[in-house]
Order: sequence, then structure tokens, then C-alpha cells
Amino acid sequence: MDDVTTAFRSAFGYGPEGVWAAPGRINLIGEHTDYNDGFVLPFALPHALTASAARRTDAAVRFRSRQSEDGFEARLPDLFPGAVEGWAAYPAGALWALRDEGYTVDGLDLLVDSTIPTGAGLSSSAALTCATVMATASLHGVDLGPAEVARLAQRVENDFVGMPCGILDQSASMLSTEGHALFMDTRTMGTEQVPFDPSAAGLNVLVVDTRAPHRLVEGHYADRRRACEEAARHLGVAALRDVADLPEALAALPDDVARRRVRHVVTENARVLETVGLLRSGDLRAVGPLLTGSHTSLRDDYEVSVPEVDTAVDALLAAGALGARITGGGFGGCVVALADADRVEACEKAVREAYRERGFAEPAVFGALPSAGARRLYP
Ligand code: ADP
Ligand code: MG
Repeated sequence: MDDVTTAFRSAFGYGPEGVWAAPGRINLIGEHTDYNDGFVLPFALPHALTASAARRTDAAVRFRSRQSEDGFEARLPDLFPGAVEGWAAYPAGALWALRDEGYTVDGLDLLVDSTIPTGAGLSSSAALTCATVMATASLHGVDLGPAEVARLAQRVENDFVGMPCGILDQSASMLSTEGHALFMDTRTMGTEQVPFDPSAAGLNVLVVDTRAPHRLVEGHYADRRRACEEAARHLGVAALRDVADLPEALAALPDDVARRRVRHVVTENARVLETVGLLRSGDLRAVGPLLTGSHTSLRDDYEVSVPEVDTAVDALLAAGALGARITGGGFGGCVVALADADRVEACEKAVREAYRERGFAEPAVFGALPSAGARRLYP
């Protein structure tokens, strides 16, 4: 806190009016289900981004990040889709989205600082947009609920940055609470806080950032979406969420690829519901095999894994993790695992050794207990 206040002061010559924090997130289970009207179960990471900010009344904006050498200065009317390059597009888009929806907001001095690895699939971008929307709205007297902030932040990525993401990341950052996973029905947008306290059960959640180079992520993502939509049409359902009888659906599909994609989505939705049930009954250890089942399905049926990810999952399981899986869109990114607290060190060591043997880049490994969602830190 003192640290970012001092950084704001040295950037702009005066103190911030407020400091907001928005966390990164990881999806425990429920992958590639969100665009099939299905279920997801993310939770907030202890890693967060802070936005220290002060209101301006002269239509000027100035952005600084402690993670970038590039500062940004502009005037509000110059912020429109396509006009801003680089990281500043995210906070610029936040101001644009608020104004585009008719809210009266003026200028802003903003300093961001973050412990969320960027581009690793842990949603640093959603944390940045959510924190900026919150800071801007609050400083200019606009009263927004957390779900509304999430919706505006999604618009920033979709319409200003040009990233066609769903609302999972933003909702997770805004709505998560400490000691809970956020169960979300992406059809109704209904959410529910599900108690998830691994440390009380003697467990820890381990995250491996594989640092694998992303490979044509967007093309693959679009391709998987299209396959699901085509399969849903073929089966006469609104979305794959509505497949009630899996064997019957599989028999009705024309080719093996379609069958495998559908099998993943349908079984993954079932695994989310089963995980929620286990968390509610406090049987956290039993969640492990569901994570591994999710990974197998994503690797073999959905085909979104890569060797770095499979190597991490195999090493974790061999070292005694209760379960492990790829998390996020795939083709790189992170692995999430559940392990006994006293196995965490062995798990980390196993992953590092396996990576060295295979000649992969050094991964980042950290523990991640379900943490608080976005909030105002000061005053
Ligand atoms: P992810 O959201 O998984 O981290 P994205 O590619 O969606 O990956 O977003 C990463 C981008 O967000 C970065 O390239 C940068 O433009 C922006 N960003 C995130 N955190 C910061 C930060 N602390 N400072 C500046 N830009 C950031
Ligand atoms: Mg992102």
C-alpha cells in the first residue's frame, strides 16, 4: 500500500485519492464449457493488481504501470476503439466503455502495480480492466455493482482491445470471495459461492505456469467453438449444455471429431457439478480424480494440450498430487493441481526436474489458496 502510494506520488507529484485491487483467477474445473452455456468453477488468486488513482477534471488521462516502461497520456475524446496500442488500451478502454454507456466520467491519473503474471492465462488483463473501471466509476461518483463492472470490463476486451473473450475472467475477479470457489452457470449468469478451503483440509492448490509459447491460440479457439455450435445444431439443441443423453447424442453425430468434442463438453459439465457437490460436502480429496479426468478429456477428446502441460500433469501425479489438469483455454498456459500440503514441495521438485529433462523453459510454480475478489483498499 505504502509502496504504490509512493510510486503514484513520484509519478504524478501528489498522492492518490484511492487504491483498488482486483485479483487474477484460476479455473478449478469447467473448461471450454462457457461458450456451450455450461458451468465453470473459478476462484480468485492471492495475486492481484492494484490501481492507485485520482480524478482529473480537465479531460486528461495519464497512465503508468510498474510493470511497463511505457507511460500513456491522452485526452478523453481521443480514446476510441483502435486508437490506443499496447497495455494502455485496457485502462483507456475502461474510460471509453463508461462514457460510451452514458456515464459522466472525466479524466484520470492512474498507476497500476501487479503480482499477476501477464499472458499466462491467469487473467491479468481482466484484473487491469476491472480495477480501472472500479476506480474511475468510484472517483467520478458513478455507482456500479460488481456484476456491472464485470460486464463493462468484458466490453473493454471485446470492443476496445479486440479480444472476443467471455465474461468468466471478469466475473471471477469481481465476484470471488476468500475461501470459496465461484460456481457460475454461464447460461443464466447465476453465481453461487461454494466453500473451498483447501488448507483447512490439509491440502494446497498448486499452479504451474508452464511458460510454454502459445501456438495459434485464436485459430484453435475459434475452431473448437465452431465444432460445438455445429454439433449442437446437428443434435437439435440450443447448446451442448442441453445434451441429456450422451450415448444417444454420440450415436447421432456424423464423425469422430464431433463425437469427441461433444463428449468433452458434456462430461466436463458433469464433472463441474460433481466437484461442486464434493466441495459442499467437504470431501475435497475426492475432487482430485475429477481434475485428472478433466485433463484427460481436454488432452484426448478436446485436443487442447501441449507437451509442456502434459509433462507437468504427469510429473505432479507421479509425485503424489491428488489430481492435476490444464486450466484456461489451452495450447500452453497453466496447470492446476490439488495436493496434500506436505506433498507440495515434492510436486514442485518433480515438475522442475521433468522440465529440465525435456529441455523446456523453467516453469513458475506457486501455491494458490482461494482469495478475495476485487475491492477498494484505500481509503
Ligand atoms: P492474461 O489476461 O492471461 O494475463 P492477456 O494477454 O489477456 O493475458 O493480457 C495480458 C496483457 O494485459 C499484457 O500484455 C498487458 O497489455 C496487460 N497487462 C496486464 N497486467 C499489466 C500491468 N501490470 N501493467 C501493464 N499492463 C498489464
Ligand atoms: Mg486476459
